[in-house]
Amino acid sequence: MEQYTDLIIIGGGVIGSSIAYHLLKEGFSGEITIFEKDRLYEFASTPRSAGGIRQLFTTDINIQISRYSLKKYKTFPEDMQVDGERAEIDFKQRGYLFLAKNETLDDLKKQAALQQKYGVPSEILTASELTQIIPELNTSDLTGGLYCGEDGYLDPYSVMQGYVKKVKELGGRYVYDEIYSIKEDSGRVTGVVTKDGMLYKAPIVINSAGPWAPKISEDSGYPLPIVPLKRQVIQFNAAEPLEKPLPLTVDPTGVYFRHEGASFIAGFSEKVKPGIDFTWKRSFFMETLWPVLAERIPNFERAKIISGWAGMYSHNTKDQNAVIGEHPELKGYYLACGFSGHGMQQAPAVGQGLAELIIKGRYESIDLSPLKFERFSTNELVIEGAVV
Ligand SMILES: Cc1cc2nc3c(=O)[nH]c(=O)nc-3n(C[C@H](O)[C@H](O)[C@H](O)COP(=O)(O)OP(=O)(O)OC[C@H]3O[C@@H](n4cnc5c(N)ncnc54)[C@H](O)[C@@H]3O)c2cc1C
Repeated sequence: MEQYTDLIIIGGGVIGSSIAYHLLKEGFSGEITIFEKDRLYEFASTPRSAGGIRQLFTTDINIQISRYSLKKYKTFPEDMQVDGERAEIDFKQRGYLFLAKNETLDDLKKQAALQQKYGVPSEILTASELTQIIPELNTSDLTGGLYCGEDGYLDPYSVMQGYVKKVKELGGRYVYDEIYSIKEDSGRVTGVVTKDGMLYKAPIVINSAGPWAPKISEDSGYPLPIVPLKRQVIQFNAAEPLEKPLPLTVDPTGVYFRHEGASFIAGFSEKVKPGIDFTWKRSFFMETLWPVLAERIPNFERAKIISGWAGMYSHNTKDQNAVIGEHPELKGYYLACGFSGHGMQQAPAVGQGLAELIIKGRYESIDLSPLKFERFSTNELVIEGAVV
């Protein structure tokens, strides 16, 4: 009832699999075992994501992470190819666009200045310039927007599977079993126990269990300020097609929308009680999304729901950003969770950074230390102003 491995990753979603890939790429010499309880990823956050990739953030660290990750997504199909087969991820660089009313345009100007400092080609658009991007857009109440044409959206499931296949090719081992708790001795992690009581010993354990990460950690004595929050996405058709492909567009109300093939998807971060809940309702579209969509783009006045789904944000209640690095009270226990609504666009940078921290003891390619767990006690919160 006992096995030994060199490094354990709890959760094989996009984050856990990216970490595994980057550890192998960076030459981690031991055996890597990834535990995944949901072989088909039916409930994981990754395949339920909207796949938005943007550099339009308001904090130095999030801009740097996104910029790093975007470059990696551009070469992902070649980098992750296995046996000559490219890992296509359908990355459409159609742009990301925040629409603004009077009161937010000044904020967007400040954000653009910070983004440009890091080389992001973000730009402020006037109301009339907006219609060059979305000709049908109702701009009557808008003063402009913040736009980045390099950004866009991709297929999250394909990204995750790209990492999984590459990890397997490089020798990483996926075990389709549920981890029940993390074991420790004298302030050092010693392994994990599966739901069936099997002990896997290892000196390094990484918690990348997405919305389930806080429960495992808390059950093992290390609570995290993270809760699962339901987020619904609805796919719909419009009677009249749009002239141009949409960027991922965020209305001033917070409702976002983009093309999905010839149809569209839309979502909104509604106020909900924390907890795992995968129900979705057509009424969410009718009452919350549709009035905003129809007002913003007349083509959406006649819309037909195709389907919908709900997924979980791993919502960091303190500052809505990821928690990355070694837990200060447990040697060998690493965290990569709490990504809130922006884990897809952070996966490549987080994988690279954490691999370096574990193998070399320091960040080299990208400094993720602002996202350390200690920030909650030292009051160094990373307050992100552009949360979707
Ligand atoms: C509706 C929605 C829209 C989103 N839109 C965007 C977006 O546009 N852009 C963006 O960047 N991000 C977006 N996100 C966020 C993004 O999807 C997540 O941040 C990201 O997928 C997190 O990946 P993860 O690997 O941490 O979690 P997950 O994909 O949930 O993976 C965690 C894995 O851990 C496994 N697991 C959990 N507990 C255990 C256990 N005890 N033992 C073994 N395995 C376990 C789970 O089965 C799961 O497969 C969105 C999320 C949602 C829900």
